[in-house]
Amino acid sequence: MALDSKIPNGPLADKWTNHKSKINLVSPANKRQIDVIVVGTGLAGASASATLAELGYNVKTFCFQDSPRRAHSIAAQGGINAAKNYQGDGDSTYRLFYDTIKGGDYRSREANVHRLAEVSTNIIDQCVAQGVPFARDYGGLLDNRSFGGVLVSRTFYAKGQTGQQLLLGAYSAMNRQIGRGKIKMYNRHEMMDLVVVDGKARGIIARNLVSGKLERHSAHAVVIASGGYGNVFFLSTNAMGSNVSAAWKIHKKGAFFANPCFTQIHPTCIPVSGDHQSKLTLMSESLRNDGRIWVPKNLEDVQAIREGKLKPTEIAEENRDYYLERRYPAFGNLVPRDVASRAAKERCDAGYGVNKTGEAVYLDFADAIVRYGKEQAHVKGLDENNKALVKKLGQEIVRAKYGNLFQMYDKIVDQNPYETPMMIYPAVHYTMGGVWVDYNLMTTIPGCYAIGEANFSDHGANRLGASALMQGLADGYFVLPYTIGDYLADDIRTGKIDTQLPEFERAEAGVRAQLEALITNKGKNSVDFYHKKLGKIMWDKCGMSRNTTGLNEAIAEISALREDFYKNVNVPGTLNEFNEQLAKAGRVADFLELGELFAKDALERNESCGGHFREESQTPEGEAKRDDENFTFVSAWEYKGESAKAKLHKEVLKYEAIEVKTRSYK
Ligand SMILES: Cc1cc2nc3c(=O)[nH]c(=O)nc-3n(C[C@H](O)[C@H](O)[C@H](O)COP(=O)(O)OP(=O)(O)OC[C@H]3O[C@@H](n4cnc5c(N)ncnc54)[C@H](O)[C@@H]3O)c2cc1C
Repeated sequence: MALDSKIPNGPLADKWTNHKSKINLVSPANKRQIDVIVVGTGLAGASASATLAELGYNVKTFCFQDSPRRAHSIAAQGGINAAKNYQGDGDSTYRLFYDTIKGGDYRSREANVHRLAEVSTNIIDQCVAQGVPFARDYGGLLDNRSFGGVLVSRTFYAKGQTGQQLLLGAYSAMNRQIGRGKIKMYNRHEMMDLVVVDGKARGIIARNLVSGKLERHSAHAVVIASGGYGNVFFLSTNAMGSNVSAAWKIHKKGAFFANPCFTQIHPTCIPVSGDHQSKLTLMSESLRNDGRIWVPKNLEDVQAIREGKLKPTEIAEENRDYYLERRYPAFGNLVPRDVASRAAKERCDAGYGVNKTGEAVYLDFADAIVRYGKEQAHVKGLDENNKALVKKLGQEIVRAKYGNLFQMYDKIVDQNPYETPMMIYPAVHYTMGGVWVDYNLMTTIPGCYAIGEANFSDHGANRLGASALMQGLADGYFVLPYTIGDYLADDIRTGKIDTQLPEFERAEAGVRAQLEALITNKGKNSVDFYHKKLGKIMWDKCGMSRNTTGLNEAIAEISALREDFYKNVNVPGTLNEFNEQLAKAGRVADFLELGELFAKDALERNESCGGHFREESQTPEGEAKRDDENFTFVSAWEYKGESAKAKLHKEVLKYEAIEVKTRSYK
């Protein structure tokens, strides 16, 4: 099958406007004849469901949580980008477009990224109209801060709870449609398979997670908004339930999976503290606006800190290595995440890590507290030389900006970050890879769409901070609702899709057989046993740096682990009850297949780009070295019975509006 990305012709800046004007529409009366299934209620799924229902389609929405409001998007902390240029600091649609392409290390599709930058401004207006309480400045105007990889302030935020506030906005828009009967909401329902009839996506098999019952649901189109797959690493900042299963099931039914190895390792997370952990906690990138990252310059100081004989606050300024400011003076602490993560790893690998395991660096707010404190003292006509007063005033400002994040750190680490620097280390956070989609966000299965983090998205090989929320909401509020009509215009006379069709029967039987095999296995190891083992292989061999030997080992080890899983996994309980372990077993089974494709993709991409760092391809300074001649493409994998046999298709990327350069943040 040939890949067709369906990028409209014409000048880049006009593509989206022209495309919208020319694609097929479904009349309001005919929308009532059409059913759409949306899997997922995060920012992408909730915004899509609300908008499609508002337009008049009959929407059925599914999530595995007890409420749509508990989707993982609620965890997003730092903010959402938009090219509003409210700060008058030189921002524009082009600059957001440029920053995103450069940030992704020239591995994303120009047309999609430009559209994203164009609609970014609409998102803010939409959310403000919904009542999302974005932070405002003294004069009452919307405030902004900066995120990594950019030289402007374009990030809108609601303290450290931006995702929560945005999701509440989307959720209320959804609730209005639930009240009108236009959305039928299926909480605690997990999509188990896609049903394809005559080559088109026509429904899903879902499992009611409370009763265990399998259900058939039909529709004229199916939208997958099931989020990212970072939990293939076991430990990540994602919500515990985040998984790849919905995306993987459609992959097995014909949807190509793109760039599976493109993973984002976030530089500012609370370091791993031991084997007992099942979750890692993010400290938002927004903290890098004011926090300075450093390690001691001298190994004796590192040793003394680890032994508890020295405190970081006792290390003199000249004995600190602010390594990001040193290596990247132009962007300093706000370099993109991939760059900051690798730099932290480099320092820790060289022995400068500041916690017991040697895997932590400092994120320090002492300077910011003094800077803000002096400013406040000046504004209020108080004594700028009174250190205690300045500290108190400065801490108040820092508390107002990042209070909940500081409180979270204090609760988890039991150290007061107002008084001592935070300790941070990189952790798995986001997956740029995902289901391949064309310009209309349709997968390679007609009628099956993928939006939000579930698709391979607009972020290339590295996503810039605060751009995931932007992309999810762009897809859901402003892109899919237009583009889906182009496909559905041919379905206005199709009528209801019958769930008694043999395709539904077969799909349901397949799901039942898999569940029965898992529950009757009665092996000796728990599901988590396998998930942890898989996570360790992924982190050690497919993590922050990758090489040929490690990747080949990973492929063999994951394959062996999968075999052992099916022989020896033990899933307690029964089929027809609320059984979290059974749900998890299905998700881990899919991770065990994805993991292999991930390693295969990383092996195939014998270059470094963005978050994908191949040790064989680096500059003398240790920076990622792209190979544009051979790798300026999106890897799109076609399922051929098992991950080992997956077939690679290449979507060659063309850069017409942007000059492709070596990425530099110096
Ligand atoms: C801690 C943290 C902080 C972040 N902060 C920011 C930030 O400040 N700014 C930013 O831009 N990005 C941030 N991100 C990234 C961003 O939050 C995510 O990329 C984004 O929220 C993903 O949204 P989504 O709608 O695609 O998926 P999700 O929010 O993950 O939602 C997935 C939905 O799919 C459902 N689902 C999944 N599988 C199934 C299935 N099989 N059957 C039924 N339902 C299913 C789930 O129930 C859920 O409703 C952060 C990420 C993390 C981990």
